[in-house]
Amino acid sequence: MSSARVIPIAVPAAPTFSPAAPDREAVDKRGRRIRDLRISVIDRCNFRCVYCMPKTVFGREYPFLPRADLLSFEEITRIARLFVDQGVEKIRITGGEPLLRKHIETLIEQLARLPVELTLTTNGSLLPQKAQALKDAGLHRITVSLDGFDDAVFRRMNDVDFPVADVLAGIDAAAAVGLAPVKINCVVKRGTNDDQILPLARHFRGSGHILRFIEYMDVGSSNGWKMDEVLPSSDVISRIHAEFPLEAIDPNYPGEVAERWRYVDGGGEIGVISSVTQAFCSSCTRTRLSTEGKLYTCLFADQGHDLRALLRQGVGDEQIAAAIAGIWRGREDRYSEIRTAATAAARKIEMSYIGG
Ligand code: SF4
Repeated sequence: MSSARVIPIAVPAAPTFSPAAPDREAVDKRGRRIRDLRISVIDRCNFRCVYCMPKTVFGREYPFLPRADLLSFEEITRIARLFVDQGVEKIRITGGEPLLRKHIETLIEQLARLPVELTLTTNGSLLPQKAQALKDAGLHRITVSLDGFDDAVFRRMNDVDFPVADVLAGIDAAAAVGLAPVKINCVVKRGTNDDQILPLARHFRGSGHILRFIEYMDVGSSNGWKMDEVLPSSDVISRIHAEFPLEAIDPNYPGEVAERWRYVDGGGEIGVISSVTQAFCSSCTRTRLSTEGKLYTCLFADQGHDLRALLRQGVGDEQIAAAIAGIWRGREDRYSEIRTAATAAARKIEMSYIGG
């Protein structure tokens, strides 16, 4: 049960603009538009990754959200449609572990009817069983988390003894059904798995998949984050460059989170995501919808806006759209630009609840 504070949304008056041309120009206080909607469909996971869902906090007694609290697929799709009307071009399905949500392919089918790029982030554990159904339902791309290539290191990172081989089998299953190239995300924690950078690079070089290294972040309030456990992305790049020369390449689009690099010898592309050492808040176009319908305008937020209440009060689309636009216009988030030891220690929503 998330301890994040809730901001009840006053039901806005019926907006003056015509529904045919919703306010696609909602711009926040820093001139940023909404382009990316991340939807967390479940707060549970079958892994206990130490930087996200440590067992010490997320044990057997942890009060996960009761089923009735979760948004239904119809509610999720309705909200997603209203965001698309406001300019969202990309939807990412997250969790917890989204493939644990029963019949997730039904939601994918519904969302795939919207004019967006539809992606999903998973720990890969259920991909061998689910890949074909996700592809058939209309999923465009998939991202798989893999925090090590050495089995012992990876099992320590996921803390449920899950083997590397099974995640690799999941990646192969996704590629086999046409969800390639797969993006592979590795969170690098100095002193814990930074020795996995080169083994992972060696394995995925030439595979066509895109390996990305993510700086360890002070997400949530449970992972005991310390700055000296952050390995800057510049170190990651220089370690790989020493063995396989790299060159920087342009972003695919403005506001892309990952900084792109490619192997000079044509061995493919890698990326780094540097929220701690190279903040990218100035171009952040992301917003997040939690499993039970709260809207968060930053990954490091401590409070959300309750959209579910509007849905379940029978409020109309125009008013919900106006509420969303109003929330976005009031947005000033730039957490990574102002991070301090004090902010790092402050209470924040859990990443396992809001999705990365
Ligand atoms: S810290 Fe918040 S505002 Fe900055 S990039 Fe991340 S989500 Fe966006």
